[in-house]
Amino acid sequence: MSAMQALPWQGEIWSRLAHTRAQNQLAHAWLVSGPHGVGKRPLIAAWVAAMLCGQPNAEGFACGVCGSCKMLLSGGHPDAHLLTLDGHLGLAFNPSLQREDGITHWQPEKSSKRKEIAVDGTRSLIDALHVASHRQGNKIAVIAPAEDLNRSAADALLKTIEEPTPNTYLILIADQAQSLSPTLRSRCRPLRLGVPPALIVLDWLKSQVPESSAEACSTALSLARGAPFIALEQLQQGEVSPAIGWRAALDEIALGRGDPMKLAAAVDDETVTAFLHCCQVWLVDFLRKQVIDGVQISGRKVAQLNNELHDAHRRLDANARAQLVLEAMLIGWLRLLAPAPRSSPQSVIMQNRLA
Ligand SMILES: [Zn+2]
Repeated sequence: MSAMQALPWQGEIWSRLAHTRAQNQLAHAWLVSGPHGVGKRPLIAAWVAAMLCGQPNAEGFACGVCGSCKMLLSGGHPDAHLLTLDGHLGLAFNPSLQREDGITHWQPEKSSKRKEIAVDGTRSLIDALHVASHRQGNKIAVIAPAEDLNRSAADALLKTIEEPTPNTYLILIADQAQSLSPTLRSRCRPLRLGVPPALIVLDWLKSQVPESSAEACSTALSLARGAPFIALEQLQQGEVSPAIGWRAALDEIALGRGDPMKLAAAVDDETVTAFLHCCQVWLVDFLRKQVIDGVQISGRKVAQLNNELHDAHRRLDANARAQLVLEAMLIGWLRLLAPAPRSSPQSVIMQNRLA
Protein backbone atom coordinates (compact mmCIF):
# COMPACT_ATOMS: atom_id res chain seq x y z
CA MET A 1 0.00 0.00 0.00
CA SER A 2 1.47 3.27 -1.04
CA ALA A 3 1.17 6.03 1.53
CA MET A 4 0.00 8.26 -1.30
CA GLN A 5 -3.00 6.19 -2.38
CA ALA A 6 -6.38 5.67 -0.77
CA LEU A 7 -7.37 2.20 0.41
CA PRO A 8 -9.51 -0.07 -1.80
CA TRP A 9 -12.69 0.73 0.16
CA GLN A 10 -12.10 4.48 0.11
CA GLY A 11 -12.66 5.12 -3.61
CA GLU A 12 -15.97 6.88 -3.17
CA ILE A 13 -14.91 9.08 -0.29
CA TRP A 14 -11.72 9.97 -2.16
CA SER A 15 -13.69 10.97 -5.25
CA ARG A 16 -15.86 13.22 -3.10
CA LEU A 17 -12.79 14.88 -1.58
CA ALA A 18 -11.11 15.33 -4.96
CA HIS A 19 -14.32 16.72 -6.45
CA THR A 20 -14.73 19.21 -3.59
CA ARG A 21 -11.15 20.31 -4.14
CA ALA A 22 -11.64 20.67 -7.89
CA GLN A 23 -14.69 22.87 -7.18
CA ASN A 24 -12.63 25.03 -4.81
CA GLN A 25 -15.02 24.24 -2.00
CA LEU A 26 -12.64 22.78 0.55
CA ALA A 27 -13.33 23.78 4.12
CA HIS A 28 -10.43 25.07 6.18
CA ALA A 29 -11.15 22.67 8.98
CA TRP A 30 -12.30 19.09 8.75
CA LEU A 31 -13.32 16.60 11.38
CA VAL A 32 -12.61 13.09 10.19
CA SER A 33 -14.28 10.50 12.39
CA GLY A 34 -15.14 6.83 12.42
CA PRO A 35 -14.42 3.66 14.39
CA HIS A 36 -10.85 2.82 15.31
CA GLY A 37 -9.07 0.83 12.61
CA VAL A 38 -11.17 1.71 9.56
CA GLY A 39 -8.36 3.63 7.83
CA LYS A 40 -8.78 7.28 8.76
CA ARG A 41 -5.03 7.77 9.09
CA PRO A 42 -4.05 6.27 5.70
CA LEU A 43 -6.81 8.24 3.96
CA ILE A 44 -5.67 11.51 5.48
CA ALA A 45 -2.00 10.74 4.85
CA ALA A 46 -2.84 10.29 1.15
CA TRP A 47 -4.90 13.48 1.27
CA VAL A 48 -2.07 15.48 2.85
CA ALA A 49 0.28 14.25 0.13
CA ALA A 50 -2.26 15.17 -2.57
CA MET A 51 -2.78 18.65 -1.14
CA LEU A 52 0.96 19.31 -1.09
CA CYS A 53 1.88 17.60 -4.36
CA GLY A 54 2.95 19.84 -7.24
CA GLN A 55 1.33 17.67 -9.90
CA PRO A 56 -1.45 15.40 -8.61
CA ASN A 57 -2.79 12.89 -11.14
CA ALA A 58 -6.23 12.84 -12.74
CA GLU A 59 -7.76 11.07 -9.74
CA GLY A 60 -6.29 13.65 -7.41
CA PHE A 61 -3.58 11.42 -5.89
CA ALA A 62 -0.09 12.73 -5.21
CA CYS A 63 2.40 11.91 -7.98
CA GLY A 64 5.06 10.52 -5.63
CA VAL A 65 7.94 12.00 -7.64
CA CYS A 66 7.76 15.79 -7.49
CA GLY A 67 9.86 17.82 -5.06
CA SER A 68 7.07 18.03 -2.52
CA CYS A 69 6.29 14.31 -2.62
CA LYS A 70 9.99 13.47 -2.29
CA MET A 71 10.22 15.73 0.70
CA LEU A 72 7.28 14.03 2.38
CA LEU A 73 8.66 10.59 1.61
CA SER A 74 12.19 11.25 2.69
CA GLY A 75 11.72 13.18 5.86
CA GLY A 76 9.09 15.73 6.62
CA HIS A 77 7.83 18.66 4.67
CA PRO A 78 7.96 22.22 6.05
CA ASP A 79 4.25 22.66 5.37
CA ALA A 80 3.07 19.30 6.75
CA HIS A 81 2.37 19.47 10.45
CA LEU A 82 1.24 17.01 13.03
CA LEU A 83 -0.19 17.78 16.46
CA THR A 84 -0.38 14.72 18.69
CA LEU A 85 -0.03 13.77 22.33
CA ASP A 86 3.71 14.28 21.86
CA GLY A 87 3.25 17.87 20.73
CA HIS A 88 3.77 19.71 17.47
CA LEU A 89 5.91 17.74 15.04
CA GLY A 90 6.67 17.50 11.35
CA LEU A 91 4.78 14.83 9.47
CA ALA A 92 7.03 12.22 7.87
CA PHE A 93 5.92 9.50 5.48
CA ASN A 94 8.86 7.23 6.05
CA PRO A 95 8.58 4.71 8.90
CA SER A 96 12.36 4.85 9.42
CA LEU A 97 11.91 8.43 10.60
CA GLN A 98 9.77 7.43 13.54
CA ARG A 99 10.55 9.78 16.41
CA GLU A 100 13.47 11.58 14.83
CA ASP A 101 14.14 15.02 16.14
CA GLY A 102 11.20 17.29 15.42
CA ILE A 103 9.45 15.01 12.98
CA THR A 104 7.61 11.77 13.30
CA HIS A 105 6.19 9.06 11.17
CA TRP A 106 2.57 9.19 12.12
CA GLN A 107 1.56 6.12 14.06
CA PRO A 108 -1.37 5.55 16.38
CA GLU A 109 -0.54 6.92 19.81
CA LYS A 110 0.03 3.68 21.63
CA SER A 111 3.30 4.54 23.22
CA SER A 112 2.78 8.13 24.34
CA LYS A 113 2.86 8.68 28.08
CA ARG A 114 0.82 11.88 27.80
CA LYS A 115 -2.92 11.72 28.18
CA GLU A 116 -3.89 14.95 26.44
CA ILE A 117 -2.81 17.35 23.70
CA ALA A 118 -1.63 20.40 25.58
CA VAL A 119 -1.80 24.07 24.70
CA ASP A 120 1.97 24.58 24.26
CA GLY A 121 2.15 22.25 21.26
CA THR A 122 -1.05 23.77 19.91
CA ARG A 123 0.41 27.29 20.12
CA SER A 124 3.59 26.15 18.39
CA LEU A 125 1.46 24.72 15.57
CA ILE A 126 -0.61 27.90 15.28
CA ASP A 127 2.55 30.03 15.09
CA ALA A 128 3.91 27.79 12.33
CA LEU A 129 0.68 28.08 10.36
CA HIS A 130 0.88 31.87 10.45
CA VAL A 131 4.22 31.78 8.64
CA ALA A 132 3.82 31.84 4.83
CA SER A 133 4.08 28.48 3.08
CA HIS A 134 7.67 27.46 2.53
CA ARG A 135 6.85 26.23 -0.95
CA GLN A 136 4.15 28.72 -2.00
CA GLY A 137 1.51 26.04 -1.69
CA ASN A 138 -0.86 24.69 0.93
CA LYS A 139 -0.13 24.24 4.61
CA ILE A 140 -1.70 21.31 6.34
CA ALA A 141 -1.96 20.31 9.97
CA VAL A 142 -3.26 16.98 11.15
CA ILE A 143 -4.52 16.90 14.73
CA ALA A 144 -4.97 13.46 16.17
CA PRO A 145 -6.45 12.09 18.32
CA ALA A 146 -8.57 15.26 18.38
CA GLU A 147 -10.62 14.02 21.33
CA ASP A 148 -7.46 14.35 23.42
CA LEU A 149 -7.16 18.11 22.91
CA ASN A 150 -7.46 19.64 26.35
CA ARG A 151 -9.76 22.60 26.85
CA SER A 152 -7.15 25.34 26.45
CA ALA A 153 -5.74 23.64 23.37
CA ALA A 154 -9.20 23.32 21.84
CA ASP A 155 -9.93 27.01 22.59
CA ALA A 156 -6.66 28.10 21.00
CA LEU A 157 -7.40 26.01 17.93
CA LEU A 158 -10.91 27.39 17.67
CA LYS A 159 -9.57 30.90 17.04
CA THR A 160 -7.39 29.64 14.20
CA ILE A 161 -10.32 27.78 12.70
CA GLU A 162 -12.54 30.86 12.88
CA GLU A 163 -9.89 33.14 11.37
CA PRO A 164 -8.05 30.91 8.91
CA THR A 165 -4.94 32.04 7.10
CA PRO A 166 -5.06 31.47 3.30
CA ASN A 167 -4.29 27.98 1.96
CA THR A 168 -4.24 26.52 5.44
CA TYR A 169 -6.10 23.34 6.25
CA LEU A 170 -6.65 21.72 9.62
CA ILE A 171 -7.67 18.09 9.73
CA LEU A 172 -8.90 16.84 13.08
CA ILE A 173 -9.14 13.08 13.44
CA ALA A 174 -11.18 11.35 16.11
CA ASP A 175 -12.51 7.88 16.86
CA GLN A 176 -15.11 9.48 19.14
CA ALA A 177 -16.14 12.74 17.49
CA GLN A 178 -18.96 13.21 19.99
CA SER A 179 -16.46 13.74 22.80
CA LEU A 180 -15.19 16.94 21.16
CA SER A 181 -16.78 20.18 22.31
CA PRO A 182 -19.93 21.05 20.33
CA THR A 183 -18.40 24.41 19.35
CA LEU A 184 -15.27 22.82 17.91
CA ARG A 185 -17.35 20.21 16.12
CA SER A 186 -19.66 22.80 14.64
CA ARG A 187 -16.74 24.74 13.14
CA CYS A 188 -15.39 21.75 11.21
CA ARG A 189 -16.78 20.07 8.13
CA PRO A 190 -17.53 16.47 9.06
CA LEU A 191 -16.12 13.53 7.13
CA ARG A 192 -17.32 10.27 8.58
CA LEU A 193 -15.80 6.91 7.73
CA GLY A 194 -17.90 3.82 8.43
CA VAL A 195 -17.02 0.15 8.61
CA PRO A 196 -16.21 -0.84 5.02
CA PRO A 197 -17.83 -3.69 3.04
CA ALA A 198 -16.41 -7.02 4.22
CA LEU A 199 -15.82 -8.47 0.74
CA ILE A 200 -13.46 -5.67 -0.27
CA VAL A 201 -11.64 -5.83 3.05
CA LEU A 202 -11.21 -9.62 2.88
CA ASP A 203 -9.45 -9.31 -0.49
CA TRP A 204 -7.23 -6.60 0.95
CA LEU A 205 -6.40 -8.63 4.07
CA LYS A 206 -5.44 -11.60 1.89
CA SER A 207 -3.13 -9.35 -0.14
CA GLN A 208 -1.51 -7.96 3.04
CA VAL A 209 -1.00 -11.32 4.75
CA PRO A 210 -0.91 -13.83 1.86
CA GLU A 211 -0.04 -16.75 4.15
CA SER A 212 -3.37 -16.37 6.01
CA SER A 213 -6.25 -18.65 5.03
CA ALA A 214 -9.63 -17.26 3.95
CA GLU A 215 -11.06 -18.55 7.24
CA ALA A 216 -8.39 -16.75 9.26
CA CYS A 217 -9.09 -13.49 7.39
CA SER A 218 -12.84 -13.71 7.91
CA THR A 219 -12.44 -14.68 11.60
CA ALA A 220 -10.04 -11.78 12.12
CA LEU A 221 -12.49 -9.38 10.50
CA SER A 222 -15.37 -10.65 12.65
CA LEU A 223 -13.32 -10.30 15.82
CA ALA A 224 -12.34 -6.79 14.73
CA ARG A 225 -16.04 -5.96 14.17
CA GLY A 226 -15.23 -5.10 10.57
CA ALA A 227 -12.30 -2.76 11.24
CA PRO A 228 -9.64 -3.68 8.65
CA PHE A 229 -6.56 -2.49 10.53
CA ILE A 230 -7.49 -4.27 13.75
CA ALA A 231 -8.04 -7.45 11.74
CA LEU A 232 -4.70 -6.97 10.01
CA GLU A 233 -2.87 -6.54 13.30
CA GLN A 234 -4.46 -9.69 14.71
CA LEU A 235 -3.45 -11.70 11.65
CA GLN A 236 0.10 -10.37 11.72
CA GLN A 237 0.43 -11.19 15.41
CA GLY A 238 -0.97 -14.70 15.01
CA GLU A 239 -3.85 -13.99 17.40
CA VAL A 240 -6.51 -15.52 15.18
CA SER A 241 -5.70 -19.26 15.27
CA PRO A 242 -7.15 -19.95 18.75
CA ALA A 243 -10.30 -18.03 17.83
CA ILE A 244 -10.91 -20.27 14.81
CA GLY A 245 -10.96 -23.31 17.11
CA TRP A 246 -13.12 -21.54 19.71
CA ARG A 247 -15.68 -20.50 17.11
CA ALA A 248 -15.88 -24.05 15.74
CA ALA A 249 -16.44 -25.33 19.29
CA LEU A 250 -19.15 -22.70 19.87
CA ASP A 251 -20.83 -23.76 16.62
CA GLU A 252 -20.95 -27.30 18.03
CA ILE A 253 -22.48 -26.00 21.24
CA ALA A 254 -25.14 -24.21 19.20
CA LEU A 255 -25.94 -27.56 17.58
CA GLY A 256 -26.31 -29.14 21.00
CA ARG A 257 -23.38 -31.48 20.65
CA GLY A 258 -20.49 -29.40 21.97
CA ASP A 259 -18.60 -30.07 25.16
CA PRO A 260 -18.59 -26.98 27.41
CA MET A 261 -16.15 -28.55 29.91
CA LYS A 262 -13.60 -29.37 27.23
CA LEU A 263 -13.87 -25.92 25.70
CA ALA A 264 -13.58 -24.18 29.09
CA ALA A 265 -10.53 -26.31 29.91
CA ALA A 266 -8.81 -25.14 26.72
CA VAL A 267 -8.88 -21.51 27.91
CA ASP A 268 -6.48 -20.22 30.55
CA ASP A 269 -6.01 -16.97 32.47
CA GLU A 270 -3.89 -15.57 29.63
CA THR A 271 -6.52 -16.16 26.96
CA VAL A 272 -9.76 -15.70 28.88
CA THR A 273 -10.28 -12.08 27.81
CA ALA A 274 -9.72 -12.93 24.15
CA PHE A 275 -12.03 -15.92 24.56
CA LEU A 276 -14.87 -13.86 26.00
CA HIS A 277 -14.46 -11.28 23.23
CA CYS A 278 -14.62 -14.16 20.74
CA CYS A 279 -17.81 -15.45 22.44
CA GLN A 280 -19.39 -12.02 22.25
CA VAL A 281 -18.63 -11.64 18.55
CA TRP A 282 -19.69 -15.24 17.87
CA LEU A 283 -23.04 -14.62 19.58
CA VAL A 284 -23.72 -11.56 17.42
CA ASP A 285 -22.79 -13.50 14.28
CA PHE A 286 -24.89 -16.49 15.38
CA LEU A 287 -27.99 -14.39 16.08
CA ARG A 288 -27.59 -12.59 12.76
CA LYS A 289 -27.41 -15.92 10.96
CA GLN A 290 -30.56 -17.11 12.72
CA VAL A 291 -32.39 -14.06 11.38
CA ILE A 292 -31.03 -14.64 7.86
CA ASP A 293 -32.03 -18.32 8.04
CA GLY A 294 -35.51 -17.38 9.26
CA VAL A 295 -35.05 -19.22 12.58
CA GLN A 296 -37.19 -17.77 15.36
CA ILE A 297 -35.33 -16.95 18.54
CA SER A 298 -37.19 -15.20 21.32
CA GLY A 299 -36.06 -11.87 22.73
CA ARG A 300 -36.09 -13.50 26.16
CA LYS A 301 -33.61 -16.13 25.03
CA VAL A 302 -31.34 -13.53 23.44
CA ALA A 303 -31.39 -11.61 26.74
CA GLN A 304 -30.55 -14.79 28.67
CA LEU A 305 -27.63 -15.58 26.34
CA ASN A 306 -26.30 -12.07 26.86
CA ASN A 307 -26.83 -12.31 30.60
CA GLU A 308 -24.66 -15.41 30.76
CA LEU A 309 -21.91 -13.43 29.05
CA HIS A 310 -22.28 -10.43 31.34
CA ASP A 311 -22.27 -12.70 34.37
CA ALA A 312 -19.02 -14.25 33.20
CA HIS A 313 -17.41 -10.81 32.84
CA ARG A 314 -18.70 -9.77 36.25
CA ARG A 315 -17.45 -12.91 38.00
CA LEU A 316 -14.06 -12.67 36.34
CA ASP A 317 -13.77 -9.06 37.48
CA ALA A 318 -14.46 -10.37 40.98
CA ASN A 319 -11.51 -12.77 40.55
CA ALA A 320 -13.51 -15.97 40.21
CA ARG A 321 -11.60 -18.87 38.65
CA ALA A 322 -11.68 -18.55 34.86
CA GLN A 323 -12.41 -22.18 34.17
CA LEU A 324 -15.40 -22.35 36.53
CA VAL A 325 -16.81 -19.14 35.16
CA LEU A 326 -16.50 -20.32 31.57
CA GLU A 327 -17.96 -23.73 32.33
CA ALA A 328 -21.03 -22.12 33.88
CA MET A 329 -21.46 -19.75 30.96
CA LEU A 330 -21.01 -22.39 28.27
CA ILE A 331 -23.33 -24.87 30.00
CA GLY A 332 -25.87 -22.06 30.19
CA TRP A 333 -25.49 -21.39 26.49
CA LEU A 334 -25.78 -25.08 25.64
CA ARG A 335 -29.05 -25.29 27.57
CA LEU A 336 -30.42 -22.15 25.97
CA LEU A 337 -29.35 -22.89 22.43
CA ALA A 338 -30.11 -26.58 22.17
CA PRO A 339 -32.49 -27.88 24.79
CA ALA A 340 -32.19 -31.60 24.18
CA PRO A 341 -35.20 -33.87 24.73
CA ARG A 342 -35.20 -35.50 28.18
CA SER A 343 -34.59 -38.97 26.82
CA SER A 344 -31.53 -38.10 24.70
CA PRO A 345 -28.03 -39.15 25.82
CA GLN A 346 -26.96 -35.50 25.65
CA SER A 347 -29.64 -34.59 28.16
CA VAL A 348 -28.45 -37.34 30.52
CA ILE A 349 -24.85 -36.12 30.23
CA MET A 350 -25.95 -32.57 30.91
CA GLN A 351 -28.08 -33.57 33.90
CA ASN A 352 -25.15 -35.46 35.37
CA ARG A 353 -22.85 -32.50 34.86
CA LEU A 354 -25.25 -30.03 36.32
CA ALA A 355 -25.99 -32.23 39.30
ZN1 LIG B 1 3.93 15.02 -6.21
